[in-house]
Amino acid sequence: MDKQTSIKAGRGNQLRCKGWRQEALLRMLENVLENGERPEELIVYAALGKAARNWTSYQEIVRSLQEMKIDETLVIQSGKPIGIFKTHPFAPIVIMANCNVVGKWAESEYFYELEKKGLIAWGGLTAGAWQYIGSQGVLQGTYEVFSAIASQFFRGDLKGRFILTAGLGGMGGAQPLAGFMAKGIILCVEVDEQRIDKRILSGYLQRKTDSLDEALTWVELAKQKQKALSIGLVGNAAEIYPEILKRNIIPDIVTDQTAAHDLLNGYIPKGYTLESIQSARLSSPEQVQKDARLSIAAEVEAMLEFKQKGSIVFDNGNNIRSQAFQAGVADAFQIDIFTEAFLRPLFSKAVGPFRWIALSGNPADIEIIDDYILNEWKEHQSLRNWINLAKQYVPIEGLPARIGWLGHGDRTKLALTVNQMVQQGILHGPIAFSRDHLDAGAMTHPKIMTENMKDGSDAISDWPLLNAMLNCSSMADLVAIHSGGGGYMGYMTSAGVTVIADGTKEAEWRISHSLNNDTALGVMRYADAGYKEAITTAKNHNLQWIDLTEKERLSWVEN
Ligand code: NAD
Repeated sequence: MDKQTSIKAGRGNQLRCKGWRQEALLRMLENVLENGERPEELIVYAALGKAARNWTSYQEIVRSLQEMKIDETLVIQSGKPIGIFKTHPFAPIVIMANCNVVGKWAESEYFYELEKKGLIAWGGLTAGAWQYIGSQGVLQGTYEVFSAIASQFFRGDLKGRFILTAGLGGMGGAQPLAGFMAKGIILCVEVDEQRIDKRILSGYLQRKTDSLDEALTWVELAKQKQKALSIGLVGNAAEIYPEILKRNIIPDIVTDQTAAHDLLNGYIPKGYTLESIQSARLSSPEQVQKDARLSIAAEVEAMLEFKQKGSIVFDNGNNIRSQAFQAGVADAFQIDIFTEAFLRPLFSKAVGPFRWIALSGNPADIEIIDDYILNEWKEHQSLRNWINLAKQYVPIEGLPARIGWLGHGDRTKLALTVNQMVQQGILHGPIAFSRDHLDAGAMTHPKIMTENMKDGSDAISDWPLLNAMLNCSSMADLVAIHSGGGGYMGYMTSAGVTVIADGTKEAEWRISHSLNNDTALGVMRYADAGYKEAITTAKNHNLQWIDLTEKERLSWVEN
């Protein structure tokens, strides 16, 4: 099939499939491409994060979803549909495994080889599982991180604080708006001017310049006025970070969200233009990777010096520390990882990036759910703050959607209420509920999600596998197991889940089982690792957690 450049998600109440559950997943697939960075290559974000292996696979997935009956399950392997299986009406519609490679072979070089041969596709955390909702998906997470920094270090807000970061891609593009919403002054370095323009167009970024002097003048003026501001600076982070340091300008917060996990197709080393990197990637891939490592080392050395001079510096989940460490920056891991430093207390309560998508395409559906939360969930002050900000600042990208960090119990409560709203015709169509793989029970990544776990379980990937199996047993509509291709995106395994609220009684069962069990496992995982917030959450919710560790501890004491 020919490349398609303008895929749009289906909208309205006309079904192309034999039921809403299949139609919903088809719309989710189309939606990740509608929101994608390079849809003509099926790439959604993060250099190579793909929605399907190739165009033939895409077409066959679409055909399968359209033809499948309610008692069948489609199996997808790294973006390629393998077959339709007779299951039963409570089985998932789609199960998939993306980019899983065993132990010794899980290395970047091997991943690139397999990718080139067309045998594998990287699904990112939400691209391959069709859960990406545009920059909003990572927006609240980034905002939560900035807010946690504000309350830990800056008496509650980032007024007059200077944030330096880089990368305005599919994920990184959320940074300017998150910084602005947290009231900070955020400077985002980006080599590709078109990405800057895209963020300005979508309303995520305010200003652009290609002059560092001009950018720093704007920062200084905004600091004096204590006015929130977001700036996109055309430049290479490997050059700009050391230059800002040389001028002895020390930002309050420093991070980076370039695609540093991918030395070949992601991070652009200094000395290359956007044109020259394209040909060099094909003609001298080894050299490009070597140069990328050197540039990342220079950037991370600057970040370490910023830290020494008082900046709050953190790795924002792009593996930049590991790349720098391999390039010889021995202290790279002195930089904190954002999850451990700022989000772990939330994950211990299974609070994480939950999202809902209006499959009708009608923005009114999201507004109705927003208003329900604002009017009825008085006790959820931080969620209500977020919804108020999101209503004001977050533009619609693709199918209307909302992200809301909710925890155990609340996710189910919201989804059940929404299912009733669908049933009563208050909403214009069904709603898909889904969550990022970066969730309590769903991810093992010893250098992102699970660094320094209390019990040392950082690299144990049983949890996401259990999570996926439990979600299949709990009747979710889509269940995915992803890995990072080993060295490519670090060593990680994660699981994704989607459940459709189509207003039926069956949807009620699916929601209450899958969403409850999904978060319950997350709570138990953190409780098992010894996190007090998780143990309390398990007790407060009467989860049937088997506290073997406490029993073991007691028997140790007794003996
Ligand atoms: P992307 O490929 O869509 O965008 C990366 C951007 O970085 C591009 O716009 C590119 O031009 C720019 N860039 C590359 N090298 C640069 C350099 N030297 N200087 C300045 N800009 C440069 O990737 P993405 O989807 O935005 O993801 C970025 C990273 O964030 C990935 O490593 C991804 O895995 C990670 N990530 C983090 C989280 C989180 O929750 N923190 C979530 C998802 C992804």
